[in-house]
Amino acid sequence: MRSEATFALVLAALTAGCAPPALVRGGRPQTAILVSTKAAADEELAATELHDYLRKISGADVPVVTSPATSPTLIRLGTFGTEPVQGWAGRRPAAEGFALQTEGRTLWIVGGDARGALNGVYELLEGELGVRWFMPGDLGEDLVERKTILLPTVSRTGAPGFPAVRGFIWAGGPGASAWERRARAAVGSPQAFFGHNWSNIVAPTAQNKRDHPQWFALNKGVRTDQLCSANPEVVRITVEKAREFFARNPDAPLFSISPNDGLGFCEDERCRAVDRMYGVSDGSLTDRLVHYANQVLEELGRTHPDKQVGILAYLDYTRPPVSVRPHPNFATLVCHTPWEFCHIHALDDTTCPLNRRFVSYVQGWTRVCRHVGVYDYYGHFDVFTPWPIVHDIRRDLPFLRRLGVDRFMSETQQHWANQGLNFYLGSKLAFDPGRDPEALLADYYGRFYGRASLPMRRYWERWERAMAGTAAGGHGGYDWLRMFTPELVAVAGHDLDEAEALAASDREKVKRRVDFARQGWRFTEAWTLMRTNAEHEEWAAAVLAGEEAIRRLEATKGTEPQAFWVQLAVQQTQAMMQPYREAVASRR
Ligand SMILES: [Zn+2]
Ligand SMILES: [Zn+2]
Repeated sequence: MRSEATFALVLAALTAGCAPPALVRGGRPQTAILVSTKAAADEELAATELHDYLRKISGADVPVVTSPATSPTLIRLGTFGTEPVQGWAGRRPAAEGFALQTEGRTLWIVGGDARGALNGVYELLEGELGVRWFMPGDLGEDLVERKTILLPTVSRTGAPGFPAVRGFIWAGGPGASAWERRARAAVGSPQAFFGHNWSNIVAPTAQNKRDHPQWFALNKGVRTDQLCSANPEVVRITVEKAREFFARNPDAPLFSISPNDGLGFCEDERCRAVDRMYGVSDGSLTDRLVHYANQVLEELGRTHPDKQVGILAYLDYTRPPVSVRPHPNFATLVCHTPWEFCHIHALDDTTCPLNRRFVSYVQGWTRVCRHVGVYDYYGHFDVFTPWPIVHDIRRDLPFLRRLGVDRFMSETQQHWANQGLNFYLGSKLAFDPGRDPEALLADYYGRFYGRASLPMRRYWERWERAMAGTAAGGHGGYDWLRMFTPELVAVAGHDLDEAEALAASDREKVKRRVDFARQGWRFTEAWTLMRTNAEHEEWAAAVLAGEEAIRRLEATKGTEPQAFWVQLAVQQTQAMMQPYREAVASRR
């Protein structure tokens, strides 16, 4: 007995001696997180996030310290060239980029800047320690609990694939901004966001319209809310507003001078003269808008030579200019609108005439403009069913990178129950267009849906395949909605039945995730019935099904992440039902 006990003790001592270095062993901290005494907010957040996730994984309370501890291993976390990583010998990482490196018993997390250090922590947690943020909130978070976390052996660098990415939390929602940060889906200045802005430059109030009618666009004899961009007063006011904006937001790189949404543009002699000056004969508004931006930039440049102004390339001003040359500080975002271009096909699919035209626009813009971005729609603004464009996203983001696009924005309406996979894959590839989408998807299905992964993959891929099937015989606009038939919805429902049965024996979280997809499906079922009835002119049945769809939307209120942006989805579904209601009324 005695000799055996001695042997066991010796073995334990030997094991401890040769054990590989760890961050946590047996639930006890083996490391400390060393940060600067003058840590920036993002560096402090980086330390907190790392501490919190090490505890979530292992239960250990790893200390965050400002002077080197005597722990067996040490994590040095900071911005290149500053404490406590000034001893790191590598090259400075890019803006918002990072380097992760193990050297002996030290793990370096070095950011190109403070945000880069934070991104480095997320990369460590995701790439080395297996944490996932598939969606906002607890439902989307996935990690493997264990009492021991070895010191990872790592040597890698990373940086955002596009210098500016905005829009993955377009409509907010609970937990969304933390998700976006952890997914590294927001890159560059938060004020690099640009959209419709004329009504903030000149408010279309009754008084303004009465006192200064000539500021507003004259369209079919009526003054609209758009502006007369050829009016020198409008240019002067735009410059004033830009200066005010930069005084309030000195770090913002750009001010949007984009027209209001919709049309109603100016047809007066001044504006037409600008069109003629550039040889525009096809009604395109691009040249006159770039002309306006150039005038704004010329004056703004006296005080703000480095600031950009931006106008979306959208509707009748999507195509590149005929002959005006944009000022070097002019920026644009070419909008890949679902009604004009195509989401059945990827952008680089040369069999698609719609996307060939879109790509030719992007290329035309990049030839004359230094700051060209793309605005896409990874969430849908009036269709809340599955929006199955994973087959596009996986090809489009690497393709846009190759086209030399410098900004990427996605209208992302936060309908997580039906469209969440778009946001996850999109955010991953926007940060790193070089990642293998197949590996990302395999990881997603395997970890998010556990034992139910097979039928859940079949469920989501079923919509993707059905959408591709709607391309035959010409396509455009909303033709893809043909895919929603009661038969397809029923078969997809069987995938979920199967998934629910398998999830019943898995973790609670897996069950809840399959339930979440079921909430999305329940809306899709009623919505499809509404549209099918309307196609058959069964108006009363269409209204009943639509009302059921709305009840199912409202039943999802308060979820995290939000299953639907309920307010918008209800409003748009009501709008879609309006003609059905009118048909019912007219038959009475
Ligand atoms: Zn005008
Ligand atoms: Zn197409």
